[in-house]
Formats: sequence, structure tokens, C-alpha cells
Amino acid sequence: MNIHEYQAKEILKEYGVAVPDGIAAFSVEEAVAAAEKLQKNGASLFVLKAQIHAGGRGKGRTVKSGVKGVMLCKSVDEVKKGAEDLLGDTLVTIQTGEAGKQVQRLYVTDGVDIEHEYYVGVTLDRAKGQNVIMVSTEGGVEIEKVAEESPEKIIKEWVEPGHPLYPNQARRLAFALGLKGDALKKGVKFIMALYEAFEKTDASIFEINPLVTTPDNDVMALDAKINFDDNALYRHPDLKELRDLSEEDPFEVEAGKFNLNYIKLDGNVGCMVNGAGLAMATMDIIKLAGGEPANFLDVGGGANVETVKNGFNIILGDPSVKVILINIFGGIVRCDRVANGVIEAVKDPEIAAKVKGVPIIVRLQGTNAEEAKEIIDNSDLNVISAVLLKEAAEEVTKAIA
Ligand code: ADP
Ligand code: MG
Repeated sequence: MNIHEYQAKEILKEYGVAVPDGIAAFSVEEAVAAAEKLQKNGASLFVLKAQIHAGGRGKGRTVKSGVKGVMLCKSVDEVKKGAEDLLGDTLVTIQTGEAGKQVQRLYVTDGVDIEHEYYVGVTLDRAKGQNVIMVSTEGGVEIEKVAEESPEKIIKEWVEPGHPLYPNQARRLAFALGLKGDALKKGVKFIMALYEAFEKTDASIFEINPLVTTPDNDVMALDAKINFDDNALYRHPDLKELRDLSEEDPFEVEAGKFNLNYIKLDGNVGCMVNGAGLAMATMDIIKLAGGEPANFLDVGGGANVETVKNGFNIILGDPSVKVILINIFGGIVRCDRVANGVIEAVKDPEIAAKVKGVPIIVRLQGTNAEEAKEIIDNSDLNVISAVLLKEAAEEVTKAIA
């Protein structure tokens, strides 16, 4: 689960990670009030930031007013003008894709005098089975680019599961950034606090880009991206509250309500599969058949009429779907029951209306597979049965030709 920058910064602050003062705003009036409050606390420069679940805002532009997603404002009036331009407009950045994202929330924060921009990230290194903390002197730049062009500029420290980050590791990282004196001390403290926040919140990604030093030797996070591990969210009801559904794919939100693991993709072959491994293999088969999967959908172990119906509704909600491939292994669930489930689902008036002209290819293997094939073949519905994956793939190729 992804959250907004202003929410990430609140969390960081709780753990003692230095961030500039800032206040979230949902309207122009709130943005003005936020700027006035920051001004009372001593701010003379403000930065107004669009809150969307995507980076690259500083270089991105809005569609209607053509303003940037991160603006330096010298007065409360400029904050007001910026808020008017940003709110409701669509911001397009390198990370949003062409469609962009609608700006519904803003963050008004102190303008910081930047001496140097750095990068700090924390994530799980799956290959090592350890958390990794990465720093780079190349802040403000996309880290993927640094990793590709000058990987030696990314310095890493790993943390064994069950172990803390040790102060000497944090010191090594801060040294690698070239921090000295007061900034070095603050940098070590920053990294220690950041790692603690990462661990305690069961996060999967922390990205501070940029981390900055100021002429007064302060060290702070000017941007913050946090992703949480969805599987650990049950331990954090307070963090769960931070979810902003309007930022997520509506099909994925809908699928989540039915406990379906669904990820929207760009192709036109919808697929419904039980088990994540088989779902991955099915997407490969679709690709080999010359098609492009429209989604990943794992309906879980017990595929019954309800799950099949929900699956159909989700898949068919995507207008680019031209054909559906159902690939179910009957292990715990019997194939004949799944076959009946598919037929019953397709007869459902709501689904029947949507499924018109969309061929359905069904491959059922496992317990009672033969009976299942018979049930499908004897139905007068637009459902094609396939025994082998190869046959299923050929039917997909035919259907999209
Ligand atoms: P994004 O990564 O989405 O472009 P950032 O928060 O990193 O957004 O902002 C882009 C750039 O704007 C930063 O690299 C920094 O130079 C500048 N910036 C962001 N916040 C502040 C701030 N509070 N004070 C001064 N400059 C800022
Ligand atoms: Mg950034």
C-alpha cells in the first residue's frame, strides 16, 4: 500500500526523522490557512506540493494550467494562486503515464535553503534475504538512472533479519555521503531513525529523494515515499486508515473487496486462474500465443460459483478484454464443480450481457477433468473447452486474430 508524501512525513516525524514543517490542504482556503500558520511559525518561503501517488512532480506539469507539481512560493498569495491552479487539475509526470493523476490534495511546507541533495532508500533485498539501506550523493535524480549509469555511486549496508541497524553502519553511510561535523552527527541520527521507522511500520519501501543538507548544517527529508507490505497491514490498523482509494486502480479496489488477487495489465486477453504460480504460467502462455494478458487474476484455492462470478465481473469491467482464458487446476476443488460454476456464472443476466461476443476458453485439469469437459462441451454457451495448455493457447490466438 502506497501513501501520500504528507502522510509519510507525519510517520517519519513520529520516529524522530527530521522533516520540514508542513500542513496538508484539501481546498484553496485550507492551503491559505496552512501558509499563514507556517508564516506565524517563522516561514518566509513556502513550497506547495501536489499530493498524488507518483513521483516526478517537480518536473511534471498540469494539463489545464500548465503549472509544476512542486512550486516555490514567496508569499501566501502565491500559495493561493498555486493552489487554485493545482486543485482539480491533472498532473502528468514521468511516473503517472500520459493519463496523469487528478490533484485532490496539497501539501504546504517550509521552503528549505538547500546546500546539497542526497538520496536514501530502504527496502528488502530479496536475493540476500536482508533489508538494505542505500545512499547516494546523486539526490534529486531518479535512482534507477544512477543505478544504471554509475552504480558505484550507490553505497549500501545490509541488515540481518532480527538485528537492528548498528550505529557504525549508519556512520559508514553518512561518511559515504561526505557529511562532516554537525551534519555527520545529524545524518547518522537521521539514518538510524529512518531504519527504525521502516522496520516498525512493516514497510517495503522507504525512499527519501532528496535528503538535503542546509547551510546551517541541518539534515532533513524534503520528499518521502513509503510503501507498506500489504500482508502486514493487519498489524497496523492506524496505517491502514491512510489508504487513498481514489489513487488506486478501481478494478483492483473492487477485486480486493472479494479477496481476489487482481492486477490490471495492458493487454486484451482476460485470465482467471487459481493459484499465483499457475496465473504467472498462464500469462506466459498467452504471450507465447501472441496475445497480451489484460490482467493477472488469482481466484484462490476454492474456485466456486461466487468467486467465478466475481472474477467475470472484474475481468469484463475492462473494455479492452476480447477473450477470456480460464485455467483452473482441480486439486482441492473438483473440476466438474468449477465447470458448473462457469456455466452458471455465464448465465447470470448481468454477466451474460457483458460477455456477448467475448469467447471464453476453459481449461480444467485435475480431479474430474473429463466430466468437466463434457459439461462444458454439452452447454450451448459460447464456451470452448481445451485439455492441453497448448490447445488453450491456440484458441486464444484464434480468438484475437
Ligand atoms: P518529486 O520527486 O515528485 O519531483 P520532490 O518532493 O522531490 O518531488 O520535489 C522536487 C524538488 O523540489 C526537490 O528535489 C527539491 O529540489 C525541491 N523541493 C521539494 N520540497 C522542497 C522544500 N520544502 N524546500 C525547498 N525545495 C524543495
Ligand atoms: Mg522526489
